[in-house]
Amino acid sequence: MNIILLGPPGAGKGTQAQRLVENHGMKQLSTGDMLRAAVKNETPTGLKVKAIMEAGELVSDEIVSALISDELAAMGDDVGAIFDGYPRTEAQAHSLDAILKQHGRSLDKVIELEVNEEALVDRITGRFTCARCGAGYHDRHKLPEKEGVCDVCGSTEFKRRPDDTEETVRTRMQEYRGKTAPILPIYEARGLVERVDGMASMDEVTASIEALLS
Ligand code: ADP
Ligand code: ZN
Repeated sequence: MNIILLGPPGAGKGTQAQRLVENHGMKQLSTGDMLRAAVKNETPTGLKVKAIMEAGELVSDEIVSALISDELAAMGDDVGAIFDGYPRTEAQAHSLDAILKQHGRSLDKVIELEVNEEALVDRITGRFTCARCGAGYHDRHKLPEKEGVCDVCGSTEFKRRPDDTEETVRTRMQEYRGKTAPILPIYEARGLVERVDGMASMDEVTASIEALLS
């Protein structure tokens, strides 16, 4: 199976992708995670994209398609791929077709997480994670039980994404509306799009996605 999770920033693509990895042994291909790793490691790509990401704008199609192509080349043929945050433009959608073909793969489904934009701004601007174990928290909706201490691992260090500010979130939403949402019709014409209510609880969203895959 090769599937794309599509939806605006904060829709829960990453969370759902991780659950598919756990439940099905698929591999998550998140260009956002790959780019953040490149920035952290100060690779040539990382140095090039840092400011663009902090502004909430899209990095070049060439860069992200190359990252995806490399990851797929390193994967076993029998492992399914979950594309999370890619493709984000029409050019990337076409590149993905070519890359999949090279690897003898084809797209099975495009799952769109439907969400309300204002709720997303609220979700994103309050979120933070444990710096040690990655557990997710929220200033307004899910504080650790003991202030400043991770419920899961007891760490007292937390981190926030530098692009999770309100202004940058608005830019990320605009990029989604202007460049990413327009790729849906391409997949609709191929009969691949399934819609899931991304405003439901995380478990409900997972259940809906599982139902689509079975
Ligand atoms: P989110 O979906 O929450 O905005 P991501 O982690 O998917 O976050 O992406 C973070 C940033 O990384 C984006 O705002 C953009 O700058 C860059 N990025 C990630 N994936 C792509 C992509 N496919 N094309 C262009 N830029 C990307
Ligand atoms: Zn923790």
